[in-house]
This record gives sequence, C-alpha cells and structure tokens, in this order.
Amino acid sequence: MTQDFIIIGAGIAGLSAAAELAALGRVLVLEAEAAPAHHASGRSAALYEPRYGLPPVVELSLASEAAFRAMPGMLKPRGLMILARADQRAAFEADLAGFQLQEVSLAVAQARVPILNPATVAFAAMADHAWDIDTDLLIQSHIKRLRAQGGEVLCRAPVSAITREAGQWQVQTPQGTFAAPLLVNAAGAWADRVAALAGVAPLGLTPYRRSMARLPAPGGHDVSGWPMIFGCGESWYAKPDAGALIVSPAEEDRQDPHDAWADDMVLAEGLARYEEMVTEPVTRLIANWAGLRTFAPDRVLVIGPDVAQPSFFWLAGQGGYGFQTSPAAAGLLADLLAGRAPALGPALAARLSPRRFARA
Ligand SMILES: Cc1cc2nc3c(=O)[nH]c(=O)nc-3n(C[C@H](O)[C@H](O)[C@H](O)COP(=O)(O)OP(=O)(O)OC[C@H]3O[C@@H](n4cnc5c(N)ncnc54)[C@H](O)[C@@H]3O)c2cc1C
Repeated sequence: MTQDFIIIGAGIAGLSAAAELAALGRVLVLEAEAAPAHHASGRSAALYEPRYGLPPVVELSLASEAAFRAMPGMLKPRGLMILARADQRAAFEADLAGFQLQEVSLAVAQARVPILNPATVAFAAMADHAWDIDTDLLIQSHIKRLRAQGGEVLCRAPVSAITREAGQWQVQTPQGTFAAPLLVNAAGAWADRVAALAGVAPLGLTPYRRSMARLPAPGGHDVSGWPMIFGCGESWYAKPDAGALIVSPAEEDRQDPHDAWADDMVLAEGLARYEEMVTEPVTRLIANWAGLRTFAPDRVLVIGPDVAQPSFFWLAGQGGYGFQTSPAAAGLLADLLAGRAPALGPALAARLSPRRFARA
C-alpha cells in the first residue's frame, strides 16, 4: 500500500515524528532490528537537562518541556550536582555558568550524597532543573498514538535500496518494497548511509561511543533521591537507576555505525575517575553497555528537507540530546512537512535546517 510518509528508523526520533505525522497522513516506520529502540534510544541516561548543549539545542530542549509536562508521569524530579577537585576550579566555573548551578559547601552536598570523598571533592554545585524521563513510557506512548491513527511500525525491515520514480520513493526491504512521496531519515548513526542509499549527499554525521556501567547501590545506600552527578567538564557521570547506580566514563570515541558495546579499558578509566571522588570502592558491575551518540559537524540537530532533494527529510544528529529534544524536534518536522510556519520560529528552524551545510 502506498503511504504518505515513510520514516526510516524506530528510535525516539523516528517514533516521535511518526506519532506527530500520523495526524497528517498514513505513516509507515521501517526498522532494521527486531524491536524499536534497540540502538541509542535503548541505551540512554534518560535525563531531561534543558541547559545541556549548544544554544539551538538548549532552545529545542526548553521548547520540549510543555509536551513532556502534558504526559502524566513522564518527568520525575532528579536534580543535578557537579563535583570538582581543587585543580579544576576554572572548569568548575565554566560548568557553574553553563548549567546555571549554585555552588554549595561540601557539607551540603554530602547531606544529599553521603559518599562524597572530602579528601578529593573541593568544589560542589547543585541545581534542581533536571528530571528523569520515563523513556520506555515515551516510546510506547508514541507507538500507541501512531497505531491509533492507522500508522504502523514494521520491524526486521532493514532498508537496502531507495529509488525515486514518478514522484514516489520506492523503499526496498526484505519484507517488500514500500512507496511514499515523502521520506524521513531518522536512522541515527546510520543516517548518512541511508542518505547515500537514496542518492542524497551525506552531511558528515559522526557516531561517537558512550559507555555505561550499572553498579550495586554504593555502600548499600538508598540512592533513589540522589541527583545526577557529573565530574566537572563532563569527565564522568553517575545517576540512580532502579535502585542501582549507573556510571558513565562520558567518553566520545569516534566509531563507524554498529551495534555498540562498552570498551573495558575506557570503562575502567571512567570508573576510576568516579571512584576518586567517592568513599565507596567499585567492587562489582551488574551490567555494562554502550550506545552511539551521533553528531552533525556543528553538534546541532539536523531537521528539514534536503537542499538538493526536498522530498527527503533529515531528522538526525540528535547527539546526546535525542530524548530531551524529541517533542519539539518532531513538532518542527511535522510543521515543515505540513507546509505550516514553524511554531519554534523561523530563526531556530533555519539554524536546524540542513541548508546550513549547503555549499554556495
Ligand atoms: C550512553 C548514552 C546516554 C544518553 N543519555 C541521554 C540523556 O540523558 N538524554 C537525552 O535526551 N539523550 C541521551 N542520549 C542520546 C539519545 O539516546 C540519542 O540522541 C537518541 O536515542 C537518538 O535517537 P535516534 O532515534 O536518532 O537513533 P536510534 O535510537 O539509534 O534509532 C535509529 C534507528 O534507525 C534504525 N536504522 C538504521 N539504519 C536503518 C535501515 N537501513 N533500515 C531500517 N532501519 C534502520 C536503527 O536500527 C535504529 O533503531 C544518550 C545516548 C547514549 C548513548
């Protein structure tokens, strides 16, 4: 059956767009894996911290808050804490300004997180403007909304060829060839490869691995009320997660698109940076994993029609902000596909457009 829109990729980008676009016409989401959210969208830290990233990303995250708040149970208070050693004052001050944090005494920080190491933590800062996103609920609610409007997610459907004939994209998968006049590329780390399949010039989207370890609650503490804790300069982070603590080395190691896994040495070095700032040693990992955070060359999302092929829409380069920007990003894509003036305003829409990469 002919669709109005085909979306490639059932991560948070593709699914949030699908739920929006289903109000405009028939939507088919094609996903290579056996289930949605198998790659980056199944491996995130699930944080909404709208002051994270460059100004256009911050604008997109802030513009997403109302939509999150309209979904009951989607955001839960978490809070943010940044820690620094005595030799990190300059980086600490940059974080204070960037994240709009309040510097606090070690005693105040320890009252919240009792395992902070007084021998190494020289500076601490806190803010309450960070929330946990219920990412599973978000993914499922998009799928539900899509299906309720007649749309579909087809898994185990890796797209292997894309051609354009008589005003329609013909998209080939092992489950058949599907046609639509408009195509949305929400393929995460594979977005440039999907573009190449369609004969569209790549944008230089680059995946970077980020690893994660799950540790038992340190010292048997109840960690549920602890904030998200960053080593200053994003040198590591830790976050309570279902009674345990997830700790990331916060690395950005360039990779080709693939099913990512944690690098043992990178994980060990990152855990050592975390361990230096706390009194409880890391004795055991419950699990570890990694995901790819895919950035455009300027680290700002790419949303809009391709310059040379305007029926091919980019929804890519979500980097480390794909969940927290998703409501506004999907809304912008829907505005552009519907031919409406973007609710986010023309300046932000232009800043996010793939046109910024077009050669004169
Ligand atoms: C460790 C880590 C922590 C993070 N923490 C946060 C956080 O706290 N907050 C936040 O907002 N963001 C966070 N992120 C970023 C966020 O997870 C990503 O930005 C987001 O998941 C990207 O979503 P996506 O849909 O673009 O990509 P993906 O989830 O990777 O989805 C792309 C999909 O496209 C499919 N695909 C690719 N090629 C094809 C093809 N040819 N045919 C069919 N399907 C195809 C893939 O199988 C994949 O399922 C984090 C990421 C990582 C790795």
